[in-house]
Amino acid sequence: MRTGEAFQTFGQVRTVLLDKTGTLTEGRPDVRVIEALDDEEDLLRFAAAAESSSEHPLARAVVAFAENRGLTLPAADDFTSVTGLGVTAHIEGRDILVGRPQLLTDRGVDLALLVESIGRLEQDGYTVIAVAADLAPVGVIALGDQLRTDAVVALAQLKADGLTPVLVTGDNARAAAIIAAQLGIDDVRAGVLPEDKAAIVREFQTGGARVAMVGDGINDAPALMQADVGVAMGGGTDIAVESADVIIVRDDLGAVLAARDLSRSAYRRTRHNVALAFTFNGIGIPLATTGLVQPVWAMIAMAASVTAIFANSIGARPSLLFDAIGSVARVTNDATPAHQSS
Ligand code: ADP
Ligand code: MG
Repeated sequence: MRTGEAFQTFGQVRTVLLDKTGTLTEGRPDVRVIEALDDEEDLLRFAAAAESSSEHPLARAVVAFAENRGLTLPAADDFTSVTGLGVTAHIEGRDILVGRPQLLTDRGVDLALLVESIGRLEQDGYTVIAVAADLAPVGVIALGDQLRTDAVVALAQLKADGLTPVLVTGDNARAAAIIAAQLGIDDVRAGVLPEDKAAIVREFQTGGARVAMVGDGINDAPALMQADVGVAMGGGTDIAVESADVIIVRDDLGAVLAARDLSRSAYRRTRHNVALAFTFNGIGIPLATTGLVQPVWAMIAMAASVTAIFANSIGARPSLLFDAIGSVARVTNDATPAHQSS
């Protein structure tokens, strides 16, 4: 927990917004279907070369797939990443676009020849990315991702605790609906751009409601900042981790609820401590200043007050202290080069 606000507000949160890819799913998609209008190998070479500079899990999956097929990737120039949409690059003299079908249509590609494939593959629950060369469609790549093993249990627990889950994803509506149905999420926002994720958080915040957002990607960072409590999955990108109030080190979804329980009990205990300190001093200081208590006893009372607060902080649950030491040790061990790069 990086901010005091997280401790204070997590208990009041009633709505939890969840990203799909990398949060509810493992975030390790793989290529399942390829449909090329012409040559499948060209489609893969262009897509993988363009994606080779991208950090996105979909990009890594495409590159890994092409490498497994033994393809040599041509060099890509002028790489640009359009967050939440896809990538563009200049390869073998051609302008390549790879990403969400919307990215291609926005740039003026006519997808008429691919509409049927895209619709059918999305219906099957795949994340579908399309590829174009010099504004002509080349084909589509469909990717699938596993639901996290603990997602069903974590979501059931979240609902049992009186929280309302909302799925907010940049992926297509059909793939989102399939995941939502498996997890019993009724409110689904699909095809959402990164800025719009933050706008959705704001929408839920109207009227002063407290909202938590759980995410892992670059595209989640604005929403994590906007939320009252931003929760980043430990395996997430550096920017998501930087933008969050709470970081799930263990990278399991159940820990989101554990964090909420911890913040509630810690905040309750903080309030006890403040009450305890005021009572002690409210009685002790008048007694000491009026000379009714001897300085030596006043000193002992002061030490007793501090000890009582310390004991209250860890007393009822000494295990918390050991957990905290354990977490610090884990964070120190987990400081891998990837995390140090930021
Ligand atoms: P999510 O909200 O599920 O984490 P993102 O906002 O990262 O998803 O991505 C939304 C969609 O944008 C993806 O489903 C994909 O279609 C497209 N996209 C984003 N980045 C890339 C990329 N590097 N290559 C291909 N497609 C991408
Ligand atoms: Mg994500």
